[in-house]
Amino acid sequence: MRMIDGARGQAWRGIFRRALLAALLVVPLAAHDDGAAHRAVTPAVGTPVPVAGQYDYAGLLHLHTALSDDATGDYDQLARLAAANGLAFLIVTDHNTFGAGRAGEGRRHGVLMLTGMEASRPEGHLLAMGSERAPTDPKTSTDAFLATVRSEDGMSVLAHPTHRKWRWEGPLDDRIDGLEIIDLADLFYASSTGDKVATVAALGVVGPTAYLRLSARPDEALRMWDAVGSRRRFVGVYAPDIHQAVELWEGAKLPFPPADQIMRLARNHILVDHPLSGDLIADRAAVLDALKAGRVYVGLDILGDAGGFRFTARTGKTTARMGMEIPVEGETAFEVRSPSAAAALEATIRLLRDGVVVAQSTPGASTLRYGDRRPGVYRVEVVVPRKSAPQAPGETIWIYSNPIYLRASGILRGS
Ligand SMILES: [Zn+2]
Ligand SMILES: [Zn+2]
Repeated sequence: MRMIDGARGQAWRGIFRRALLAALLVVPLAAHDDGAAHRAVTPAVGTPVPVAGQYDYAGLLHLHTALSDDATGDYDQLARLAAANGLAFLIVTDHNTFGAGRAGEGRRHGVLMLTGMEASRPEGHLLAMGSERAPTDPKTSTDAFLATVRSEDGMSVLAHPTHRKWRWEGPLDDRIDGLEIIDLADLFYASSTGDKVATVAALGVVGPTAYLRLSARPDEALRMWDAVGSRRRFVGVYAPDIHQAVELWEGAKLPFPPADQIMRLARNHILVDHPLSGDLIADRAAVLDALKAGRVYVGLDILGDAGGFRFTARTGKTTARMGMEIPVEGETAFEVRSPSAAAALEATIRLLRDGVVVAQSTPGASTLRYGDRRPGVYRVEVVVPRKSAPQAPGETIWIYSNPIYLRASGILRGS
């Protein structure tokens, strides 16, 4: 979330900066609807081809509409752009309101639209998904909030937990199901004026890949993820945090960054056992179940479609998918399968245990196999070299898996 500058003393400086930014934004805004030129993904939402028995759907969560006072846009606009960008689902989370609520849910332009909420808590911002009764009043207790979402079988996720202004200051309660490892809008809004200007200037030349300049490895969020994961499942997701609003002055907002650009950058890919059916109740459950179970990976799909990525582990007779907690029984055989775009990107598969790389493929490899007997949080980062993403500050993580958790049998609590 962006907060409008509170201090009056900063107001004039803020207005000057915004006016400068507005002048710069006019060019990419005028040019932003540049059609297929920069699209890396297929603009169609159909039934995907199953890989290893699972169907892969790309979608986004944590988007705002004009129901948030610091955003523009509406469900129909977001759905239309999502369809054009090959997204199967969106979970809209306006600030402190279920806004359109259940009535806003359903298929629009072929896209499954779901309603959640981004709640301002005393400790930071929490997303509630699969909930309709979580308290919208920021003054209610977070304990009650988490209890309500849990009682509805919903999902609570930390929004931008390591953000320098709006970080999560509370305890990592066991009822918090996951965290955002990347919150794109906040990377943009919180960047320096110089970085904003450079990003906006580059947009006119290289299109939305210009945002990759903000894509440094989110080390602090990854450490938090691995640390909580050592005790329990903790789901990592990507959030575009779409606002489409730069406030110039009270009541005047430029629709920037445009949703159409942001939707092409990165996506959550959920894995489900059956194709989405078109039935709202069943599809909502399928999407939320996959997210809660951690059957999700993040792809910076603007570099190449991450669809088809798979990460599994086999131990004894069990084959574990992402998000599962399994007991150590002798050696566990991990297998990572990179999507087909990996070859052209010369992407390297890295398997990490508790944040430390334990195995690495050659560049462009399609698979990585590795065995280990130690408990730990195992997850995958597929990285591309600078030459495959020249706008980025260094090598870029193209794909983040969710972990598979290998537990010493004493601490396994079932999954
Ligand atoms: Zn926020
Ligand atoms: Zn937000």
